[in-house]
Amino acid sequence: MKDLMERKEIGEALEGEKKYRHLAKLMPIGVYSINELGLITFYNDRAAEIWGRRPRLNDITEQPFCGSLKIFTPDGKPMPHDESYTARALKEQRSFRNEELYIEGADGHLIELIVSSDPVFNEDGLLTGAISVFHDITQRKRAEDDLRRLAGIVESSQDAIYSRTLDGVVTSWNLGAERIFGFEKTEILGKSISLFTPESYQEEELNIIGKICRGEKVEPVETIRKNHFGRHLYLSLTMSPIHDNKGRVIGITTVARDNSDQVQIRNELQLYNERLKQLDNHNNRFIGLASHELKTPLTVIKGHLEWLALESQNGMNKSSVTKALIHIDRLSDLVSSLLDVSKVDGGALQLNLASFNISDLLNESIETVMATEKTHQIMLENCLDCIVVADRQRIEQAVTNLLLNAIKYSPDADKVLVRCKTEGDDVVVSVQDFGIGIPADQLDKVFSRFYRVEGLAPSFSGLGIGLYITSEIIKRHHGDIWVESEIGKGSVFSFKIPCK
Ligand code: ADP
Repeated sequence: MKDLMERKEIGEALEGEKKYRHLAKLMPIGVYSINELGLITFYNDRAAEIWGRRPRLNDITEQPFCGSLKIFTPDGKPMPHDESYTARALKEQRSFRNEELYIEGADGHLIELIVSSDPVFNEDGLLTGAISVFHDITQRKRAEDDLRRLAGIVESSQDAIYSRTLDGVVTSWNLGAERIFGFEKTEILGKSISLFTPESYQEEELNIIGKICRGEKVEPVETIRKNHFGRHLYLSLTMSPIHDNKGRVIGITTVARDNSDQVQIRNELQLYNERLKQLDNHNNRFIGLASHELKTPLTVIKGHLEWLALESQNGMNKSSVTKALIHIDRLSDLVSSLLDVSKVDGGALQLNLASFNISDLLNESIETVMATEKTHQIMLENCLDCIVVADRQRIEQAVTNLLLNAIKYSPDADKVLVRCKTEGDDVVVSVQDFGIGIPADQLDKVFSRFYRVEGLAPSFSGLGIGLYITSEIIKRHHGDIWVESEIGKGSVFSFKIPCK
């Protein structure tokens, strides 16, 4: 209940000019008046709020024409107070409507105002002052700018961005959507999303909308829609709700990214991979079969040559047979390696585990290699006794591969160093050469099947399978193999396997 005094005051206020002043007090916009000298004679609370100050009324020491101390033109230049629209309404005796200007608010921020000013005359037509109304449009302008910026982003997006009502009527459609779906804005607005949602995906869309309406979080979905011409599009859809001012979901905004190209590439890659796998299997089977078939005649030829070597009395014949035997051995090794590759690939590389001293094995391997390779001295450095449980033959094969490579790829050197040490529960064996080295970007690749370093001189013969088999042997022993190398300085191949 208003008290009596206040009611009386309102009653009185409703008389004459007071009535208008009271009306002005209630208005949500700034209102003020000046007299013919430019002194402020009245302002309402909203005006004071916008100015950020309460100027004294009818006071010649106050700034005339306007309650704000600093005013600016729309392009940011300071505006003299006697050029403000209220001052001009008074001086030029004319009205101004919806003019824009800035004032400096109490906290120093610029406030954008829309101002209308009128001159005021008395009953005799004499000029008595001016009156202005103004309102703060800073927030509205900011919101408009934000909206414009947002609309720019939406329009320039490569993604399709569109919105729809809950019952599936399209309400907005950007350029990206035109490009991806092939429907122009004018032909799709107001139409149903079923135009680009295949029937079998309509249920999925309904489910997502159900979730969004229940306020559940919806992750982006990889799905299929169709374009204007019925072609399937592989899209990633991110959907989010549009709320009304009461917070109710009234529609959905969708950002659709076209993944069709990626999906097509992925599918093609998958096909290629499958095809490659098939070819690889054929290759493996062929290598396995061919090496198996070669092994028997080789063994027979070798048997006959050995018999011939024993029987040959003539020196010339004997040396030819011995040479033939050396080459038959090389051929046998090659065929054995190919057979090993097919075993590794077919998962059939069997290990016969036994315990032995690794230093014995290294000594024997070095002796065997040095018996045929006379160009290099292989030296075993600081090797301690260490018992391992492993396949002796396979570890010897691995060490021999590394030694033969060390010799083959260091034609200008004359020594190879072998080291052996324990590291925790492992034994680490290293073979160091002083040869051509391996480029850094190919260090990892040399353990791959059939891989040979690019640009290798033709004099280095080989098939690129020795290190592949060696690394598979080490891996089967739960070990590890690696190489450090420097071009022109040499390489150190190392492997480690558990001691026991
Ligand atoms: P191959 O020697 O029969 O080509 P490997 O599988 O034994 O096959 O070796 C693979 C490749 O790694 C070789 O072709 C060679 O380019 C490189 N390589 C192997 N060992 C050495 C080494 N000690 N020094 C330099 N390069 C090497």
